[in-house]
Amino acid sequence: MPQTSHNRPLPYETSEEARLSDAVTRYFLHPAEDTLQALERFLAPHGASPRAAAVAIQAADAVLDAEIEQLAAIIVQQGSSLVCRAGCTGCCCHLVPCQPFEAALIGLYITARPELRAFFEAAYPEWDERTRGLRESYLAWGERYYRDGVDDGTHRLEDYYTPCLFLHDGRCRIYPVRPYPCRSCVSVAEECRAPAAPDGRPGMRSMDCGAYTTHKHSRTALTDLLWKICGPGPHAAVNRPMPDLVRCFLREGFPAVLRYASTPR
Ligand code: SF4
Ligand code: SF4
Repeated sequence: MPQTSHNRPLPYETSEEARLSDAVTRYFLHPAEDTLQALERFLAPHGASPRAAAVAIQAADAVLDAEIEQLAAIIVQQGSSLVCRAGCTGCCCHLVPCQPFEAALIGLYITARPELRAFFEAAYPEWDERTRGLRESYLAWGERYYRDGVDDGTHRLEDYYTPCLFLHDGRCRIYPVRPYPCRSCVSVAEECRAPAAPDGRPGMRSMDCGAYTTHKHSRTALTDLLWKICGPGPHAAVNRPMPDLVRCFLREGFPAVLRYASTPR
């Protein structure tokens, strides 16, 4: 469903936010040096603003959703179909990292919903206990494995397979603001839902839709720009588990999230 003022997860508070959102959309639809520079002119005056970062991510998410709909239509034309269905939550048992800017969007969404905030505060300790001692080292291993192609043997893929903190009664409690790794992931492989081997676990046969268009590349440029404006720059970014970033945002605010996501392990 296209975003409208009625279903936008984070409603605009000012006309400036609407203009910022438009600038992000323009950049994603026409990714080029001039549209990126125009976007920087919109973003820079906001400084390290969690709302500006969240509005920018929300606009990027809306473009990605529209692109995935188009990809799905092409896949259907070719005679296949997406196997993802409501209630299939296999890919919600992976460890999801996110950008601090995505954590700002999730955090603001939760802040506006006291019931969801209470759910998060109640669920975090159990998730923390369940994944403590594993999630940071697993994330570091995964980073080297996927980014550098180096398997140092400290973990195996199947070591982490436990429900996401936000998965409740088979539903994602933050679905409208879920981060890129969840949003971009869809599958056309029946095996995704019924894997025959451990490395075919649900979610492992999915495709990263953003990588099939210019979206992922443009999104990296957007987050690099946000890092440049908000913090020490993209070179310092460290992957952190999404629930930890969200908790940090809710308890200590956006500057603390930026520090946490740029502190070496
Ligand atoms: S990617 Fe796979 S596990 Fe995730 S919803 Fe789609 S079919 Fe299910
Ligand atoms: S944030 Fe939502 S979509 Fe992503 S893994 Fe958690 S429950 Fe699943």
